[in-house]
Amino acid sequence: MKLLDGNYCAQQIRLEIATQVASFKAEGRRAPHLAAVLVGNDGASRNYVGMKVRDCEEIGFNSSLLHLNENIAEADLLAKIDELNADNDIDGFIVQLPLPKKIDEKKVILAINPRKDVDGFCPENVGNLCLGFPAFISATPNGIMELLRRYDITTEGKHCVVLGRSNIVGTPMAILLSRNASPGNATVTLAHSRTVNLKEVCRSADILVVAVGKTEFVTADMVKEGAVVIDVGQTRVSDTSRKSGFRNVGDVDFDNVKDKCSFITYVTGGVGPMTRASLLQNTLKAYRQNQGAHYV
Ligand code: NAP
Repeated sequence: MKLLDGNYCAQQIRLEIATQVASFKAEGRRAPHLAAVLVGNDGASRNYVGMKVRDCEEIGFNSSLLHLNENIAEADLLAKIDELNADNDIDGFIVQLPLPKKIDEKKVILAINPRKDVDGFCPENVGNLCLGFPAFISATPNGIMELLRRYDITTEGKHCVVLGRSNIVGTPMAILLSRNASPGNATVTLAHSRTVNLKEVCRSADILVVAVGKTEFVTADMVKEGAVVIDVGQTRVSDTSRKSGFRNVGDVDFDNVKDKCSFITYVTGGVGPMTRASLLQNTLKAYRQNQGAHYV
């Protein structure tokens, strides 16, 4: 079993981007600028946004955090998004999800200018991804593709099972793996809560990507010997032995699954850092476009 080290790959990506940023600055150009909108005080969301801001600082990006009260009216949030859309100094921005229940997430996603949609959630970007046109690709599946690429894992001709069909992870992941590209060219099964014989479906996977949001859902009897297993799941559970009071648990029963796998990710240091690195790559792309480059 080999651990897919997302921390290491993400660090490499950050170094690659930092070198480019240094050269922009040496030419007298401004740095790329990522803005993040955080509504409310959810601990996990604050943590994720904080890490994204720190990543920007590390590689020389400009970053802004717009921290809004959880009682903000939907119309006021949409007005803030319009301001970000119009601000030419901001290349891309994200609205951290989930949003408070009274705000319609769909309306918020539709309000984001697709050319600044570095999360890749807007219909225009998802549609372009499906058609194989240039697009901002959702950071988590894009980060997983990068991880597969950097570890030279062959996807062509393989059977990939993606477990979970969310708009931001499972569905774009299935599209990316099935595209005529490298990595890609896999035969993909997209499984979900209505899938019959889920255990057998998962056990037929050469590559199993799990994004269900249920702790240790995938057990050893669901995994084929020699499979590649990517665990996207990240659920906070209380842990009084830790200073933070919690730990993250994945969707895969790592301890019992790992010895069956050729490659596997661990809940920390796997997909999470690759997601963040991918967001930085998307922001760099938005910056180049904003600076006049054609779609890159
Ligand atoms: P989501 O929107 O909650 O979707 C979960 C999917 O799992 C749904 O398609 C659902 O099927 C399916 N599912 C639920 N129970 C199932 C069952 N018993 N059998 C089969 N399928 C089942 O989740 P998400 O946003 O994709 O997130 C999934 C996990 O990934 C979460 O733990 C999240 O925190 C984590 N995540 C991590 C990162 C990262 O960077 N590491 C990024 C994003 C998300 P139906 O569609 O039929 O309901």
